[in-house]
Amino acid sequence: MFDDDDLIMISALQHYCFCPRQCALIHVEQVWSENRLTAEGRLMHERAHEEGGESRGDVRIARAVMLRSFRLGLIGMADVVEFHRLKDGRWQPFPVEYKHGKPKADDCDKVQLCAQAICLEEMMNVKIPGGALFYGKTRRRLDVAFDENLRLETESIVQQTHELISSGRTPPPVYEKRCESCSLLEGCLPKKMQKKRSVKAYLSRMLSDP
Ligand code: SF4
Repeated sequence: MFDDDDLIMISALQHYCFCPRQCALIHVEQVWSENRLTAEGRLMHERAHEEGGESRGDVRIARAVMLRSFRLGLIGMADVVEFHRLKDGRWQPFPVEYKHGKPKADDCDKVQLCAQAICLEEMMNVKIPGGALFYGKTRRRLDVAFDENLRLETESIVQQTHELISSGRTPPPVYEKRCESCSLLEGCLPKKMQKKRSVKAYLSRMLSDP
């Protein structure tokens, strides 16, 4: 169990999945820089939060719901939590996360949503079998099942993210395609830093060779 002081942001999981260095720059070094993609994403979240709660038949909608899990050491906010009325009259929570782009090949968005569900489960003492991701670019909702594999993957990423943040160390940059959409590209300079590291490694190899 974690203490209040050791909770990390659920958003850190998304940053870790995207790039551990980005995660450390934001959550260890407190660097943040906004680019077009993050600004559009932020506006989309703000719009989702501003719309207020509502009821539609057997569905109640709550927005900007605070979340935390002392078991996993997480804190954050869900864009939307729907409550679906079940046949026995109980209300089943169903988290919905708004994403600016389109569905991705990796599981990063699903991991973030699953972490939200695990927080809700702990807070409400219920089991949550599924939720949904809403993508702004496709205007489509993608249903996500919180199965055993996704839960294990989520808990593993939570653990790795905790280890990274508590180590206080920022990994060196590795230039990849993802860097072109990274809001920290200008400050991170992955191509330049990588080159510097290879020259340093080359010199140290040369000097240590007999
Ligand atoms: S520019 Fe690339 S290496 Fe640097 S933080 Fe962003 S994704 Fe990571």
